[in-house]
Amino acid sequence: MRSLITLAASAALLSAAALAADDAGAAIRVVRDDEGRQIRLDLRAAINVEGYRRIIAGTVHGDEVEDVTFRVVPEGRVGIACLSEDALACYAADPGVRPVIVIPGRAPSRVRNVLVHEYGHHIDRSYDHRLAPPDFDGTARWWSRRQMGQRLSSRNVAWDYSRGWGRSIAEIFAEDYAVLNTPRGPFDIFWLDRPSQATREAMRQDILAPMGLSRQRLGPAWVNRAAGRTITFTVATAKRRLVVVTRVRNKRGSRAVRTTVSCAGGRFVRNSLAGRNRVGTIRISGAPSGRCELMIAAGRNPVLYETTVLHKR
Ligand SMILES: [Zn+2]
Repeated sequence: MRSLITLAASAALLSAAALAADDAGAAIRVVRDDEGRQIRLDLRAAINVEGYRRIIAGTVHGDEVEDVTFRVVPEGRVGIACLSEDALACYAADPGVRPVIVIPGRAPSRVRNVLVHEYGHHIDRSYDHRLAPPDFDGTARWWSRRQMGQRLSSRNVAWDYSRGWGRSIAEIFAEDYAVLNTPRGPFDIFWLDRPSQATREAMRQDILAPMGLSRQRLGPAWVNRAAGRTITFTVATAKRRLVVVTRVRNKRGSRAVRTTVSCAGGRFVRNSLAGRNRVGTIRISGAPSGRCELMIAAGRNPVLYETTVLHKR
């Protein structure tokens, strides 16, 4: 069991772009959860579709279930599909590419634990509450219940696998999420107590009534002096905080870029990036609901940028 998740863990760092390229033999089947959300299955092995659907639909989840593809491959081919010889399941995600969960074709009762653990990584990536690193940071109430801030500063846990699989924040979250969905199921973080009822309830709230950041990604795209770009995005309900982060992605050449944000209600903020800076951040407090415009312009040379808009509820 441990090796299984360890391997799934290492595969969490996979590039989804590499996996996306492998579309031979895809047979897409869309089923629905009990609220009618789409669950996208990419079937490359014969399975009990209803059994798999029931596991996914039965997890604590929200609209993020529509954003991921569940790729089911023959048992012996998971390693190839995960680009990692020994992997038994994996989650792969990259900016701008649809995330993929690769799982083996088995009897549903035997796939449940790996499937729910990997889905925990998707939950983690879908519900942000910190600005950096933004992807695998658990969820807001869970973070505080599990005292991850203190554990991180005392080097008890790490963002990556440098302190071992069981000390990676992403894996602790995925294991806690597995226990949330299967209270009597396995829990492979041996140095830590199983998540308490209160921690599990906090996670459930984080997913059903999130209070962290939600995120919109814009780009990557090129911009130059002659052709600036205006991107519009919507703030659905008034937010305490809106953070617009622009990253320059081109490795060489000019990095000079100017971004301007204006939102309904007349708030207007500017930010300029030049020299060695690659990341520019604009913070807007008390963002009103409505449409916002983000204008990006470059200096003399074209710049490849990507913008992330984080909504703090
Ligand atoms: Zn994992």
